Amino acid sequence: MLIFEQMERRNHEQVVFCNEESSGLRAIIAIHDTTLGPALGGVRMYPYASEEDALIDVLRLSKGMTYKASVAGLNLGGGKAVIIGDPKKDKSEALMRAFGRFVETLGGRYITAEDVGTDVRDMEYVLAETRHVVGVSVAHGGSGDPSPVTAYGVWRGIQACVAAALERTSLEGLHVAVQGLGKVGYWLAKHLVDNGARVTGCDLDQERAAQVQSELGIELVPPESIFDVPCDVFSPCAMGGVINDDSLERLQCKIIAGAANNQIAEERHGRALEERGILYAPDFVINAGGLINVYCEIDGYDRERALRMCDAIYDKLLEIFRIARSDPAITTHDAAQVLARRRIESVRRLRRL
Ligand code: NAD
Repeated sequence: MLIFEQMERRNHEQVVFCNEESSGLRAIIAIHDTTLGPALGGVRMYPYASEEDALIDVLRLSKGMTYKASVAGLNLGGGKAVIIGDPKKDKSEALMRAFGRFVETLGGRYITAEDVGTDVRDMEYVLAETRHVVGVSVAHGGSGDPSPVTAYGVWRGIQACVAAALERTSLEGLHVAVQGLGKVGYWLAKHLVDNGARVTGCDLDQERAAQVQSELGIELVPPESIFDVPCDVFSPCAMGGVINDDSLERLQCKIIAGAANNQIAEERHGRALEERGILYAPDFVINAGGLINVYCEIDGYDRERALRMCDAIYDKLLEIFRIARSDPAITTHDAAQVLARRRIESVRRLRRL
């Protein structure tokens, strides 16, 4: 594979290959764009089938982070790292510290955090080698679990969708179907119930679902039936790829707005939502609360500040919906990317001055 060709295709600034024999570390750090600030993005550990798969994944994910930070209005660029290996078998203190040393060599151009296959504990090992890490525990001066902040942002996003699609300022009496009652899904359901919405939820973990039901008084359906629930808002808070050929035929909602990453399986499914008159809140915009939360850690964490910054998700979505409405050829997802690029370009021009 031609690496520079892959970098040019997505406009990457820098890719760093990290090799440390004694710990077995093989990692790739991708810095996509630092126009707006240092590249921030988590480190994913995964047993990639090939080096090529790992490279493509890190290039794709780091570019996504540039857009996410830009739309969220943060002074951050996009970056990501991958460690090739099985997190259950290959992870060790030495491996994470070796990775931390490579992050340190970049002098703050890349800031790391936890991601799939890595956790808060791993970040503590990274912290032993570099201060360019966020998402560490409260005990280490970090922000801890981002889920309540992410859920707050999703809740504000749902309010924006309801204002745009249903011309309503209150969620009172609206019916929301929440797929996944995990860390984000639970907090989201709580906001919704506290504000008078009717919530139907589901979770693969039946014990968890029953617990949330008894605490919040929500209705439950089996996980396989969630797409069939007639509702105003469908909120995917479990996993990606849920908007696909199967679910499209079944969904009976007016809005899709949830925390899960990469909700739309393929681009054509995004267009199909428009054709069906379903308003889609781009996932990387509405779930930015997690990123906003760790961003707030950089200058000393303050939960109140993180929540106030999440309020901006409301106006940002309204702006995205306006752009999408003004051009029938583009989806709300495209409109969000337009907004992200506009901000980067405007700051880039400013720097030339
Ligand atoms: P979590 O693991 O705490 O919760 C996910 C829940 O979904 C689990 O309880 C799981 O049992 C359930 N689930 C999985 N597959 C399901 C299915 N098919 N049907 C029903 N339930 C199912 O994760 P989380 O932190 O709440 O994150 C939820 C989603 O939001 C993820 O896609 C995550 O990537 C995304 N996200 C999370 C944050 C955050 O701050 N935690 C930030 C941005 C994006």
